[in-house]
Amino acid sequence: MPAEKIVMTNGQLKVPDQPVIPFIEGDGIGPDIWQASVRVFDAAVEKAYAGQRKIAWKEVLAGEKAFQQTGEWLPAATLADLKEYLVSIKGPLTTPVGGGIRSLNVAMRQELDLYACVRPVRWFNKVPSPLRHPDQVNMVIFRENTEDIYAGIEYMYGTPEAQQLLHFLQHDLGVKKIRFPETSSFGIKPVSKEGSERLIRSAIRYAVEHKLPSVTLVHKGNIMKFTEGGFKNWGYELARLEFGEQVYTWEQWEATKKEQGEEAANKELNIALAHNKILIKDVIADNFLQQILLAPADFSVVATLNLNGDYISDAAAAAVGGIGIAPGANINYVTGHAVFEATHGTAPRFANTNTMNPSSVILSGVMMLEYMGWKEAANLIVEGLSTAIMRKRVTIDFYKLMDDATLVSTSEFADEIIKHL
Ligand code: NAD
Repeated sequence: MPAEKIVMTNGQLKVPDQPVIPFIEGDGIGPDIWQASVRVFDAAVEKAYAGQRKIAWKEVLAGEKAFQQTGEWLPAATLADLKEYLVSIKGPLTTPVGGGIRSLNVAMRQELDLYACVRPVRWFNKVPSPLRHPDQVNMVIFRENTEDIYAGIEYMYGTPEAQQLLHFLQHDLGVKKIRFPETSSFGIKPVSKEGSERLIRSAIRYAVEHKLPSVTLVHKGNIMKFTEGGFKNWGYELARLEFGEQVYTWEQWEATKKEQGEEAANKELNIALAHNKILIKDVIADNFLQQILLAPADFSVVATLNLNGDYISDAAAAAVGGIGIAPGANINYVTGHAVFEATHGTAPRFANTNTMNPSSVILSGVMMLEYMGWKEAANLIVEGLSTAIMRKRVTIDFYKLMDDATLVSTSEFADEIIKHL
């Protein structure tokens, strides 16, 4: 069985039986949790496919390890490998202080144009949560990853650029609303129709493929009409034009209500839902942050812009006690490029202690296996991890919050999962 590249042909990912998958171990606690995770992945693949499939891991360097060995934080060879092999996985990386790179993660996302940050948020039985019914939380958040205020177009007050921009705003555009012009810094929020559409298209496709009940567009369109409001409007338009037969939208409901009254609109909605159509709706971001605590069962797939997505992912993960174990992926569904990653940082104080929770990388690996179509192996890992947590044999973070739990190390937690695959 030769090791081969994963490729994308005609919009379909082609995964050989022995795919080469680059991995970045990560800094700080990265090596500990990676070594535990990779044992779980290999054991699950072996068990699921009885030796017919196997991952050919290829280490690529980034972060401190790369800096020590090559003098670069993100060597060109690493980016080339991530591009060539399409699918990869990484542990957390130190953000270099000073120097040319703001963040290694951001650099990778930009270089590979990984426009969708995908974060599933679900509860595992027995994980301590602040909610009374954390079992009702089961969402997949699609956060736009390349635009918005995160584009990094920012100018400090007093600089020639800020002054030039101020002059343009006041004199060319006649803006009169800047309260303290001389001491204002400026940030630009680009939100495009194309950028919004590709993200929302991916979210709706995900809902279709996984037979999920709804896609919620989360935005602040009530205040930012053309950026956040644009996101919402383009989303509804795209749903109607590209997924017309598969969805029912709140816009349709509004239109029917206007023409025929609320009763008729509700009837239409119920018929659509009975026919398993996906409900496309929207919620304003601040209200959404309430609703995920008050009525989490109402949400399934969520599509949102970059900054909202940042807040929402952490708030939603916290609701299920999962902030330390939440997985993530950065994906370009058009080219197939995908980097799966732990969402926590490097926790440098705990480096080489073999004490931290490897679940974030392990569940990112589950996402990766699902993305590759290796669902059997992915399911085995979820079962093994659920059982380990149910039996309360957990690492220090959960141990401190659970009654009657048994403390295990990072590597013992991996053993525990493997035992229950
Ligand atoms: P952090 O996530 O590294 O750690 C904060 C605290 O969370 C830790 O002290 C620890 O108590 C807990 N924690 C984190 N991961 C855990 C795990 N797997 N198991 C148990 N507990 C865990 O955040 P930080 O201290 O703000 O950042 C440290 C470094 O990580 C910085 O250099 C930062 O830039 C970087 N960072 C990287 C990523 C990434 O690569 N995706 C993300 C966030 C931060």
